[in-house]
Amino acid sequence: MCWFRFSLRFQEMVFMQRRNFLWTSVLGTGLTVLPPSTSPQAVAAEAGVPGDLRNKAKLRFSSQLGIIPGTNEEEKLKNMKNWGFEAVELGGIGNNVDNWKKKVEDAGLLVSVFCFGSNNGDLCSDVVEKRQPGIDNLKRQLEGNAKLGGTGVIYVPAFNGQTKLTNQEIHKLLLEFLPEVGKFAVECGTKVVLEPLSRWEAFFLRQVGDAARIAKDCNKIAGCDGIGVMGDFYHMYNEEADDMGAFISGGPLVHHVHLANGPKRTLPGQEEHSFVQGFRGLKYIGYDKFVSFECAVRGDDKETEVRKSLDFLRSEWEKS
Ligand code: MG
Repeated sequence: MCWFRFSLRFQEMVFMQRRNFLWTSVLGTGLTVLPPSTSPQAVAAEAGVPGDLRNKAKLRFSSQLGIIPGTNEEEKLKNMKNWGFEAVELGGIGNNVDNWKKKVEDAGLLVSVFCFGSNNGDLCSDVVEKRQPGIDNLKRQLEGNAKLGGTGVIYVPAFNGQTKLTNQEIHKLLLEFLPEVGKFAVECGTKVVLEPLSRWEAFFLRQVGDAARIAKDCNKIAGCDGIGVMGDFYHMYNEEADDMGAFISGGPLVHHVHLANGPKRTLPGQEEHSFVQGFRGLKYIGYDKFVSFECAVRGDDKETEVRKSLDFLRSEWEKS
């Protein structure tokens, strides 16, 4: 036995003896004190957090329409249904709510979210007059999303170059106007979903935990849960230290997920990018909402590539 291994073994023995001595001493006093349980359920209960919710988690696929092959929207939606998608993620749909409702229902799909974006950064603009029209437009999207039975509207406070406000000023402004918008979303039956982005797309809001803190504060002010957050695997690849930790930090506020590889933002399975750790986090928080493709596809045969990607992700989910 080398000196290093002997030293480790010796330290273990000392530790065991000390622990036995402590419990013997406690019991020697006549007190019936038992060692604290360290099971995950006991620790979670003591901390007042939900703990491991793996039994509740589900893998439910959605996609934006851009990567789906088809000669028109109806054919794309039909293909999605046939390949195992449950929902479609739409952009802002203006006044075409009834039109989209029919198309989606005819295909037997659901609507996951609208990808609204930042509305040119108007809601957090340094030009005060731009803010209210931006808020009004977000509310119109929330109404449209609710009419389609959607789960939320993705909102990005500002992309780089869209506002002269500082990080601190944007944060303060969000806490001023988002609670009321969150309340409006709840009244409609949907949510605002904050999306963190990579630093070269947005200097403000880059991590799931950042978004969760803002959502939590807004929801507390509003007295409801109208603000949620999401994680995009591509942006998380660039900004998060750990995908599992990121989703756990969002916890029950995580309301949507975008699927793409880092670093090239391709279809899952087309780059060396593991989803296991992130899926493990989603399982831990009992995530049962949608994971949605927002990525590019390599290769001419998009049908084959998308179906391969779905199988790859199912396998990653099983491993997680
Ligand atoms: Mg995204």
